[in-house]
Amino acid sequence: MSEPQVMDLVTYPDPFLNLPTRPVTAEELSAGTAGEWNLAELVERMKTTMYASEGVGLAAPQVRVGLRLFVSDPSKEKTGFFAIFNPVLDNMVGSDLDEEGCLSIPGVRAKVKRYKSLRCSGLDLKGQPISFDCRDLLARICQHENDHLDGILFTSKIGMTARYSAAKRLGELEEEYREAQAALKKKAKK
Ligand SMILES: [Zn+2]
Repeated sequence: MSEPQVMDLVTYPDPFLNLPTRPVTAEELSAGTAGEWNLAELVERMKTTMYASEGVGLAAPQVRVGLRLFVSDPSKEKTGFFAIFNPVLDNMVGSDLDEEGCLSIPGVRAKVKRYKSLRCSGLDLKGQPISFDCRDLLARICQHENDHLDGILFTSKIGMTARYSAAKRLGELEEEYREAQAALKKKAKK
């Protein structure tokens, strides 16, 4: 197999990031395909993309795939990789305020209040159930990535002050997006 290719990241304010995603069915997992996607290849490419962007998590909508899937590696040594389909979070306990960023919102970091610990359950690439208890960073990642699957960005969960500080950068991203869309339209007309 050739090296998995890095995928283009969908960035704010692309409306794709606000769309909810659909679960992957047991049939799709056993066939290894969902729509146009070979699921093993998709996971490999998301892994490559996440590492290339130095992220600790990446959700399918961030690579323009509308499936309930995210990948993560909370370790510094790239030894903790996992992919989870149809994740469900429960047993949420405590609260924790810490800084977050998002590969889809480059240049914005802000403190977000999250549950401190939780259980994350779902399916692996083979369709086998997986479940783990986690806290702190990994619990934060699970909540951030699971939000992506519901079309929710972390910037909608930050306080007024943080929103005020982020406004300038968000405005720049909105401007870049408008320009890129206009360029695409122009290209399409030719
Ligand atoms: Zn994100």
